[in-house]
Amino acid sequence: MAPRKRILSGMRPTGRFHLGNYYGAARNWVRLQDEYDCFYMVADYHGLTSQPHATAFERDLIDLAADMMAVGVRPESIYLQSSVPEVAELFLLFTMVTPYGWVQRVPTFKEMARQQPDNVNMGLFSYPVLQAADILLVKGDAVPVGQDQDAHIEMARETARRFNRLYGNVFPEPATLRTETPKILGTDGRAKMSKSLGNIVGVTAEPEVIRKQVLSMVTDTRRAYLSQPGHPKSCNVDSLYKIFFPDDWQHYWDLCRKAEIGCHEKKRILGERIIETFAPFRQARAELSDEAVKRHLAEGSRRARDVARATVAEARSAVGLLPGL
Ligand code: ATP
Ligand code: MG
Repeated sequence: MAPRKRILSGMRPTGRFHLGNYYGAARNWVRLQDEYDCFYMVADYHGLTSQPHATAFERDLIDLAADMMAVGVRPESIYLQSSVPEVAELFLLFTMVTPYGWVQRVPTFKEMARQQPDNVNMGLFSYPVLQAADILLVKGDAVPVGQDQDAHIEMARETARRFNRLYGNVFPEPATLRTETPKILGTDGRAKMSKSLGNIVGVTAEPEVIRKQVLSMVTDTRRAYLSQPGHPKSCNVDSLYKIFFPDDWQHYWDLCRKAEIGCHEKKRILGERIIETFAPFRQARAELSDEAVKRHLAEGSRRARDVARATVAEARSAVGLLPGL
C-alpha cells in the first residue's frame, strides 16, 4: 500500500481559538485525519514576530493545543514548532533560494507592519519563508487553511519548485485544502475574524462569553428601526446562520426581510445555538489538564522531530553541504 500523503497546518498562540479557526481550518484537520498522515503545529516561533517574550503567550499556547484536541484533532498529531528546531535550519537554506521580490510582494507583511509599527522585525518580513519551511519540513503534500493563507501557500509551492530545480527532487508542491467556509468575518463585520484583533466568537469559551461576543456583532447598519425590513445579504449574522442553521436559515432570512425579527433577537438565538453546538467541545476541553496537554505536545513533537531530522539531512545533502562533522 502506498504511504499516506502528509498534511501540515498550524496556528499561532496569539489569543483564543475562534469560529474562523474552526470553520476555516480545524474542521478540515479533523475530517482529513484518516486519509492523511497529519502534523498540526502550535506556531510559537511565529508568535515571536508579534510578542518578543514567549512566556507572555504560554497560557494561549496551552489553551490553543487543548482547544485543538477538544474539537477532535488527535493529540499525537499536534506538536510545538519550537520543539522541532530543525525548522530553523531548513528556513536558513530556504532564505538562500528565495528571491527578495517574492517576500516583498506578500500582502500580509504590509498589513502586519501597519498593525505593529514599532516592531517591524525581520521575522515578520521572512514569515512566509518560515511557513514554507514548516510545511516542507514534513514534506507536506497538502495544507488545510483558510483563504487568508493563499499567498503564503503559493510561496511554499514556489519554494519547493525552485529548490527542486536547483538541487533535485526533494520536496512535494503542497496543495491548499479549503473548507466550504474559508473566510469568516469578525464581530465587527468587516475584518476577518482574528485572534490578534480580538473580533472573535469563541468555540470552547464559557457560555456567557460567547453570548456577549455574539451580541456585540455588528449587524445591518442600514436598519435603524425594528419595523424596517433588514438586509440579510450584507449581514454577517446571516452568514453565520447559514452555518449554524443549515436547514432553516431561509426561514430566518424571510423573517428579517419582513421585519418580523429584530437583529438583537437573531443574535440571541444564534448565540444559544453556538453554545449548544459546541457543548461537547467545551466539555472535552474542561477534561484536559495543562499537564496532559504538555505531555501530548511533547510526544507529538518527538514524532514530528524524527520526520524533520530526515528531511533536513536530505536537504543538506542535496545542497552539497558536508554531513555534520
Ligand atoms: P492571528 O490574528 O494571530 O493571525 P488568526 O485568528 O488569524 O490569528 P491563525 O493562527 O493565523 O489565526 O490561523 C490559523 C488557521 O485558521 C489558518 O489556517 C487560517 O487560515 C485559519 N483562519 C484564521 N482566521 C480565519 C477566518 N476568519 N476565517 C477562516 N479561516 C481562518
Ligand atoms: Mg492569522
